[in-house]
Amino acid sequence: MTEVRRQLFIGGAWADAAHGATLPVDDPATGEIIAHVADAGPEDARLAEEAAVSAQPGWARTAPRARSEILRRAYELILERTDELARLMTSEMGKPLAEARGEAAYAAEFLRWFSEEAVRIDGGLGLLPDGRTRMLLSRRPVGPSLLITPWNFPLAMATRKIGPAVAAGCTTILKPAPQTPLSALALAGILQEAGLPDGVLNVVPTSRAQAVCEPLLRGGRIRKLSFTGSTAVGRLLLAQCAGTVVRTSMELGGNAPFIVFEDADLDAAVDGAMVAKMRNMGEACTAANRFFVHRSVAGAFGRRLAARMAALEVGPGTRDGVDVGPLIDAAGRAKVEELVDDAVERGARVLTGGRTPGGPGCFYPPTVLADVAPGSRLLETEIFGPVAAILTFDDEDEVLDRANDTPWGLVGYVFTQGLDRGLRVSEGLEVGMVGLNTGLVSDPAAPFGGVKQSGLGREGGRAGIEEFLEYQYVAVPVR
Ligand code: NAP
Repeated sequence: MTEVRRQLFIGGAWADAAHGATLPVDDPATGEIIAHVADAGPEDARLAEEAAVSAQPGWARTAPRARSEILRRAYELILERTDELARLMTSEMGKPLAEARGEAAYAAEFLRWFSEEAVRIDGGLGLLPDGRTRMLLSRRPVGPSLLITPWNFPLAMATRKIGPAVAAGCTTILKPAPQTPLSALALAGILQEAGLPDGVLNVVPTSRAQAVCEPLLRGGRIRKLSFTGSTAVGRLLLAQCAGTVVRTSMELGGNAPFIVFEDADLDAAVDGAMVAKMRNMGEACTAANRFFVHRSVAGAFGRRLAARMAALEVGPGTRDGVDVGPLIDAAGRAKVEELVDDAVERGARVLTGGRTPGGPGCFYPPTVLADVAPGSRLLETEIFGPVAAILTFDDEDEVLDRANDTPWGLVGYVFTQGLDRGLRVSEGLEVGMVGLNTGLVSDPAAPFGGVKQSGLGREGGRAGIEEFLEYQYVAVPVR
């Protein structure tokens, strides 16, 4: 791979921050600083805005096929460099290399998917009901877009936004999470190499997110915000967007229920639980947060899940055979510890894990808690760690009520061998996505997103590009 630059990427050029500031990036497996990256301030944000705004008209006029082919080349470059990108991701974020490779493939797939969508943006011609007026419909890019991403999927959250924006003809400013700027900068290098014109993508890592983003959102020149992160920050950004009526897509937090009925195939349910809980060490918005297991199978499910969790190898993500890397930082781990302690104080039984190891790195062991009491804090917030909290239930209506009793609605998981029940419960869940007898829902070809306070809009699928397109309707009288 070409060298990963550590500067800001603005208008197709690499530059230090205006005041020479840098931010440290550390390896959560060791706590050691692995890089210093340029730390953007408001002046740099203004330059990025200028670059994105200036490049917008030309990019909107660029042939869809040309936009498509750039994305396709970038897809191929990511695949060629999977290993190097995976190492980079593991070093700044901690996930095991095998998962990081999986993320590189998943991230690339968004670029392939949207390279295919770029050439399928259609319009329409119709006749209004009175028969006297034609209606010409065309689609156009919404305009310069600010993309804000979290640290948990440093590459895929970026391509899930850049892919559709670029395909639609929008120019962009990407503000990655400060913990994981290197993956974003590597991606910028790849897109440049793939032929993306100057100014279409600008990348501004910063330790001062609000100072950089708020003026952009309030300034009136940025026309779209696509945000992935917590619901709390999402609310704040929505308020900032209100002033200039910036269009928004919001991929926010979750509190996923994982429901196991008495007729479930328990092997499949445990397999599904391992994926839904342990993908990314539990640091995923899709992570199963509340396991509702029918009383008659709760003991067996808990024992089997605990045995599988206890067998996982915890360690630095770069080491062969490691299944579970460190959590992102000390604050992330402290939150998990507090949530587990609170549940145990309220009567939960620890089936495995539950104790923080000594030594360097932000490690936390895979943990299963049974008999979690209502009111435990981990039922009301995202755990964001490798902790499965098991509750029991007795009947279908009761479990649906309890599963829906949350302000979030991103995803739910249902395990049952009854087709009618599976569909009925899926339809009854107030969520944007359901895994029915599976623990994995994410796919670039599917509309990913939530209802309630889990978000607005969708990423991926046909819906993904719609988020970056406007309609224009031209009325033409029939003469
Ligand atoms: P976060 O604290 O909300 O941060 C997300 C991003 O927003 C970071 O880049 C962050 O930068 C930035 N940010 C924070 N305050 C900001 C402000 N005032 N103005 C502009 N940007 C601001 O979330 P996180 O802890 O990084 O990520 C975990 C959350 O993301 C979880 O809730 C998870 O569920 C959610 N998530 C959702 C999806 C989904 O598709 N629904 C996918 C992945 C993750 P700073 O860190 O510098 O503040």
